[in-house]
Amino acid sequence: MNVSAHIEAVYAEVQRRNPGEAEFHQAAAEVLESLAPALEQHPEYVESGILERLCEPERQLMFRVPWVDDQGAVRVNRGFRVEFNSALGPYKGGLRFHPSVNLGIVKFLGFEQIFKNALTGMGIGGGKGGSDFDPKGRSDAEIMRFCQSFMTELYRHLGEHTDVPAGDIGVGGREIGYLFGQYKRITNRYESGVLTGKPVGWGGSHARTEATGYGAVYFAQEMLATRGEDFDGRRVVVSGSGNVAVYAVEKVHALGGRVVACSDSTGYLVDEDGIDLELLKEVKEVRRARLSAYAEARPTARFSTRGTVYDLACDVALPCATQNELGREDAVALVKNGVRAVAEGANMPCTPEAVEVFREAGVLFGPGKAANAGGVATSGLEMRQNAARDTWSFEETESRLAQVMRDVHTECRATAEAYGTDADDYVLGANVAGFLKVAEAMQAQGVI
Ligand code: NDP
Repeated sequence: MNVSAHIEAVYAEVQRRNPGEAEFHQAAAEVLESLAPALEQHPEYVESGILERLCEPERQLMFRVPWVDDQGAVRVNRGFRVEFNSALGPYKGGLRFHPSVNLGIVKFLGFEQIFKNALTGMGIGGGKGGSDFDPKGRSDAEIMRFCQSFMTELYRHLGEHTDVPAGDIGVGGREIGYLFGQYKRITNRYESGVLTGKPVGWGGSHARTEATGYGAVYFAQEMLATRGEDFDGRRVVVSGSGNVAVYAVEKVHALGGRVVACSDSTGYLVDEDGIDLELLKEVKEVRRARLSAYAEARPTARFSTRGTVYDLACDVALPCATQNELGREDAVALVKNGVRAVAEGANMPCTPEAVEVFREAGVLFGPGKAANAGGVATSGLEMRQNAARDTWSFEETESRLAQVMRDVHTECRATAEAYGTDADDYVLGANVAGFLKVAEAMQAQGVI
């Protein structure tokens, strides 16, 4: 059997069946390209069509979300939920509210989520959802009405044993609260485990807000440790200034590093003294203002709309904004300026061309499905606490998160060594390790 030909045929079918879904094609190609060594050892997975089934979501939902704005005008958005794979547990993955959201983006995110969730070892399947709703500039009341309308359709597909959404871009604790309230009202059930990322106090987990950013930094720390290095005294750039970015900055500072830049969709901020975390949180989380407001409040900082954070010299780069934000030229600039490690806090922020530049230059590269797995892992911890009607302390939850990240890192390296030629190949390690867990479960469950 020719494994390469099989993989190419599956990929050609993905392209044919899902026209125009560029991000999904990209995510599928990145995983499929890694899997030849795993399929050579498991020809039974070829025979039982595991790849064909993996690339086709179990269920795709698209629905109308009508709502009324503050002026009384009727608005219509499109809602999505892609329930991709439930071999390992209930579908699990966030909801994204951003005007760029379309079916292809939700499918790329859901596909990634299958392998990421498998890597955490927590018994959760893969899914993702969202809407092309733009929350920017909307009042609290508008956000609430939108969330209520969104959940009025989605609730019938959810359940703590069926499908468990969480946050993503544009969806944080406030939105999860409105979504949960509507779910509870319609179903007449206080089903804590149906959504994760709830505020602490009514079913949320300590450290969930921090988990993705902290986890990405833990992953980078583990990568650096393989070369006898750590964050102490290191210069770091972070992209984005949302949930993942803010807590990546916090953890880098706690480990003795200095984050000198972060960004939003309008530009980037440079603060050579190190980002002032309190000010950043106040601007982004309390005032919900643009990042430029930080520079207005702090004379040592500057805000620029030309170039990117990747133009700056740094030891470590943590892309934490969005897909395909770090291209080949950015990667070349980072390498030229001495970057040693890149860990993806966001999903697929580096283009394949950028990843190739890092690989050729020997830069440690942690792909999102491993490096940002701390968020969903802590959602898994939230589900455990909800199921047991228990609450763990921040310290206990964070120490479990840190252990999950160490385990994911170890598993990626061990798998890369076993199935490839280089333990530093975290892309191969993450893809193959995640795939093997899902494939084994699918194989055992029959042709479903
Ligand atoms: P937030 O909405 O909290 O923040 C997103 C940040 O990225 C903002 O600073 C935003 O800027 C910026 N951004 C978004 N879109 C663009 C764009 N098109 N161009 C430039 N900047 C952009 O989202 P999160 O921090 O939760 O998510 C960030 C990334 O991390 C996403 O890729 C997400 O999928 C991934 N992720 C998140 C997890 C979580 O637990 N939240 C878990 C795992 C991965 P602006 O405000 O100007 O739009």
